[in-house]
Amino acid sequence: MEKPIVSDYGANYGTINPVYGSPAAAMAAAPATSIHGPSAPPANMFDTVPGYEGTIAGGGGGYLPPPPPSVPMPVPEQGPSSPNWQIPSISEDQARESFAMYVSSKCCYSSDPVKEGVITNMESFNTYRYRLETFIESRSTEWSQEPYTGQPVDAGVQPAPGPWQIAAQPPAFFQEHKQTIKVPYTSSVKNCHLCLGMGRNPCTTCAGSGNKVCWVCNGSGFRRSDDRCMHCNGRGRENCSSCNGNGSCQCNTCHGKRQLLVFINLIVKWSTGKDEFIAQDSSGLRVENLGKVSGKELFKDAQYMVYPVRGFPDVSVGQASERLVRDHQVKYTQTSRILQQRQTIELIPITKVNYMWKGKPYVYYVYGNEFKVSADDYPATCCCSVM
Ligand SMILES: [Zn+2]
Ligand SMILES: [Zn+2]
Ligand SMILES: [Zn+2]
Repeated sequence: MEKPIVSDYGANYGTINPVYGSPAAAMAAAPATSIHGPSAPPANMFDTVPGYEGTIAGGGGGYLPPPPPSVPMPVPEQGPSSPNWQIPSISEDQARESFAMYVSSKCCYSSDPVKEGVITNMESFNTYRYRLETFIESRSTEWSQEPYTGQPVDAGVQPAPGPWQIAAQPPAFFQEHKQTIKVPYTSSVKNCHLCLGMGRNPCTTCAGSGNKVCWVCNGSGFRRSDDRCMHCNGRGRENCSSCNGNGSCQCNTCHGKRQLLVFINLIVKWSTGKDEFIAQDSSGLRVENLGKVSGKELFKDAQYMVYPVRGFPDVSVGQASERLVRDHQVKYTQTSRILQQRQTIELIPITKVNYMWKGKPYVYYVYGNEFKVSADDYPATCCCSVM
């Protein structure tokens, strides 16, 4: 092994810095970063690792495109061609009951139209919700560091495996999860850039002097006329409590170890991308209402990659399926690997109820498995104004 494992990353780093004996010099020589908190390490702290050139500290380098599959992609299987579907309808009693519950949930609504209203007509409408979910794995890398306490140092021992060659344990399909893996053969040891390898930084409270002006005598050493200040024994200064009078504090970055293990982390993320389409219906119910309810599942298909739904009675559903399957493939194969897809078609029942109250016609809708009600023209929305 010719490559040194411990390497320096700049002429000014890692030199012995004898400033802590002299408070004024410590301030002058202290790097700005140790006063204003940790900042990004210098770029030359990181070696070049083949296959990881775009990796930056703290992440943010974007997701890494997966290599093209070495085996041909499986051809999606055709789903069942004719799902068994039927339009459920609700009874008048069910409609009335749902209506009554809706009205009683509104504190100001009068229940008179519910009790006295006469249902004149009930119409069943049905609409479909198509949903496509794509479960993907994405990978990104970032340079990371931790205090060096004797961990294995393996940079350059052999070439690092590519980001997509590293084995990760995926969760169950459609479960969100994240795993962080230290990339093998990228770990090296560097002097800590924040304390310049000293393990300690000048105390920011006392500016490295270890003491500060006595708060009792304000630095004079005396109280009133000639009484010596008891708090500071006449010194005029007292020990800094932040650093216990040392003038310096343990470095937060290396935890006083003086050296850092610097390595590449691989971040593997599993997530689900979801898109929906709701078919237009002629009931007059606003479509945004339907986002809150569930329907009857007519069709479900889950496999590695789904094939667009064909031959569904509502043509717009088939078109949406074709479009979304294509969109997902374009969107997700660039930066991730598709592990599983799932598509469903739900039938969302909608019943339009026409009723008469005090000689005038009104309408309400009962929809979804939950029998939710929408009644935009409810005639008694304020109990006090009902005659
Ligand atoms: Zn201090
Ligand atoms: Zn004092
Ligand atoms: Zn340090």
